[in-house]
Amino acid sequence: MLTVNAIAATSPTDPLVRTTVERRDLGPRDVLIEIRYAGICHSDIHTVRGEWGEITYPLVVGHEIVGRVTEAGTEVSRHAVGDRVGVGCMVNSCRECENCRAGQEQYCLNGNTGTYASVDRDGTITQGGYSTHVVVDQDFVLRVPESIPYEKAAPLLCAGITTYSPLAHWNAGPGRKVAVVGMGGLGHMAVKIAAAMGAEVTVLSQTLGKKDDGLAFGGGDYHATSDPATFEALRNTFDLIINTVSAPIDMAAYLGLLRLDGTLVSVGAPPEPLPVPVFALFGNRRSFAGSGIGSIAETQEMLDFCAERGIAPEVEVIDADAVNEAYERVLRSDVRYRFVIDVDSLR
Ligand code: NAP
Ligand code: ZN
Ligand code: ZN
Repeated sequence: MLTVNAIAATSPTDPLVRTTVERRDLGPRDVLIEIRYAGICHSDIHTVRGEWGEITYPLVVGHEIVGRVTEAGTEVSRHAVGDRVGVGCMVNSCRECENCRAGQEQYCLNGNTGTYASVDRDGTITQGGYSTHVVVDQDFVLRVPESIPYEKAAPLLCAGITTYSPLAHWNAGPGRKVAVVGMGGLGHMAVKIAAAMGAEVTVLSQTLGKKDDGLAFGGGDYHATSDPATFEALRNTFDLIINTVSAPIDMAAYLGLLRLDGTLVSVGAPPEPLPVPVFALFGNRRSFAGSGIGSIAETQEMLDFCAERGIAPEVEVIDADAVNEAYERVLRSDVRYRFVIDVDSLR
């Protein structure tokens, strides 16, 4: 076992504190990763505050992890000591169910093993990336292209793949009108990726405060959702809406923005239900869907896509001691556009 430095939540309400966690001995197919940066996802906040259900404390969160392989098990063939690597939201799956066999292990029918707050194969609770090291099965470790700086690579492991996957699945591309609701960590990546895929992108944000950024990230249009005129002006417009909002939204109002056969995909995961008035689906034969992260293969595809197209998140690098303040800023929608912890501050 390796005892490593980390910061952990100890209750739903107390600030995160410095602590240590145990990492398992390296199995034959495991790699040991020295973590360099870890992104802060809003899911980390929902989780530690118990908003998605009870969890076991203390818990180390963080599922946007990048670093370097420092040790490899005897049977490891996919990665070597010194490689730049990343770990996202899951670290294992059953590998046997229909979905795993179809290469969609994020939808493992036996439940994928989350990077944190999941029961691991040895019965322990997985502990995430706000930490100096992690041990992960080689099959759930991604290659991080050289051209993406470490700190900018981190948010791709969740915010990047979670937006890339539905954009690819619902064919964002030339001739398609895509709206992105909420421009935080996920939202700003959705804008950049959809624009790179060739779609016509509209940003729908609470205010006009981020308009210059939204247009610079590739948005062709930008509207404030606090202005009721937005919903009149954009009625029956979009083929695809990606909702990244961490709180409930007015479903009827947003569904009304879809054109014939349009789909609203929610990746935002508010703790409360999103009530869907079915009459809002009848007009224009609209669909409402959800999407969860992406497979390992698709995550690699997304990393390579971002490297090729020169796309990277906008990050604010912070020390570990600033995490609690960063959480408050995320909750105030005051993030431009992803906080990333410099894990050297934990060594
Ligand atoms: P974030 O950085 O906080 O961004 C959320 C954005 O939503 C905010 O920046 C804000 O954008 C908007 N917003 C926040 N509160 C709002 C409110 N009350 N009303 C209207 N708009 C509001 O969060 P994130 O890290 O991108 O994550 C977003 C959501 O996705 C979270 O619920 C997270 O748990 C979920 N998530 C899901 C998956 C998945 O697999 N499906 C993966 C990762 C994260 P504007 O100010 O620009 O409007
Ligand atoms: Zn996440
Ligand atoms: Zn499975």
